[in-house]
Amino acid sequence: MLPFDAAKCVEIQTNWGDKQWNNDRPISNLWTFWTNNTCHPFPESSQSSSCARGFYGDYVVPAKTREHIKYTIDFARQNKLPLIRNTGHDFIGRTTCWGSIILNTHVFKDVTFVKKYTGPGTWRGGAATVGAGIQGRELPRLANKQRPPQVVVAGECPTVGFASGYILGGGCGPLASLYGMAADQVLSFEVVTASGKTFHLCCDSLTVKTYNDLPSSAVIFNVNFTHTIDFELYWKGVDAFHFLSNRYVENGLVVHYELSPLRLHVQAFLNPKRPLRSSMTNQPTNRREAPVRQLDAGGIPYSRETKQFQTFFDLYVDDFEDEGSGASALTGGWIYTRKDIAQNATAINAAQRLTAE
Ligand SMILES: Cc1cc2nc3c(=O)[nH]c(=O)nc-3n(C[C@H](O)[C@H](O)[C@H](O)COP(=O)(O)OP(=O)(O)OC[C@H]3O[C@@H](n4cnc5c(N)ncnc54)[C@H](O)[C@@H]3O)c2cc1C
Repeated sequence: MLPFDAAKCVEIQTNWGDKQWNNDRPISNLWTFWTNNTCHPFPESSQSSSCARGFYGDYVVPAKTREHIKYTIDFARQNKLPLIRNTGHDFIGRTTCWGSIILNTHVFKDVTFVKKYTGPGTWRGGAATVGAGIQGRELPRLANKQRPPQVVVAGECPTVGFASGYILGGGCGPLASLYGMAADQVLSFEVVTASGKTFHLCCDSLTVKTYNDLPSSAVIFNVNFTHTIDFELYWKGVDAFHFLSNRYVENGLVVHYELSPLRLHVQAFLNPKRPLRSSMTNQPTNRREAPVRQLDAGGIPYSRETKQFQTFFDLYVDDFEDEGSGASALTGGWIYTRKDIAQNATAINAAQRLTAE
């Protein structure tokens, strides 16, 4: 056991809320909920905190080659160790576990672009082969340096592992309404497998479609307590916004927003590809958009700001910020289909209000 290092402790406390710092540690987890608050740098913040390793893994393999991956998988299987992987984003705690071995592919950062894909299938457009360690923000940045600049269906989160948990879970991002889910962009996987009683598979890179970047626009939109403190009026505005969800998708928009009592913060209505048209509908900007018409008709106050960008990449950098880490958060997700919205929007709106309040 290493002696207590006061300087190290201060470094950890200082950086605990910094996501990228945590991503770059071999075993750190973004949500302390899944570590049961073990080994917490602010033990006073949690009653269940202790100095034991607890739910953090016992072994770390910072893999640098495919052979490292293969040997680690074999070792885990032979020794019956839970094998987990780690950039630490996982919402449901699959990257931390008692007694586990952590196979970390964070250094697999190679990316190569081709203008015309010639592999299996019918796609003959641009493509990028992306290492498993590449994170959300790194890939759009590299794609933007291509000539002509390219875009990929990355997530809104700048630090999620692109060619790993994000794509393996489907992957949804600001270009998904236009091009489909991230998993639908995959042209091929490079994987390391190891058979045995348990079948393990590790992706070390994959190839996805790329598209030419285009001028884009965004609308930042707010209904909040500076506009009204009338709860019923506020929720009427939220309902009007939600009721139009199918229309946003049908017009190629992605709408990214935060919702809590008296705070609907839309950052943003994204309109890749349509700089000269409104970002809320497919209508010219000199006509009032559907959400605005409905809010106006209901007497609901709001504010909005329209932004135009030379490229989608400029929009992405402008509108998607780093998020924090270190909270004991329990997070979930749900996908509503267009049929759900068409048939059950009232009940969905009521459920969202119940959850938020
Ligand atoms: C703040 C935040 C924002 C997010 N934003 C988005 C978003 O915009 N869009 C979206 O779709 N999702 C988003 N997510 C969800 C995210 O995509 C998933 O949590 C995803 O699983 C994270 O992948 P990771 O590789 O970074 O994380 P990890 O925690 O390292 O891994 C997640 C899972 O993938 C497995 N895995 C990881 N790498 C590999 C590999 N190379 N081979 C095989 N299995 C592997 C792990 O075993 C684990 O089960 C967000 C998550 C957070 C925390």
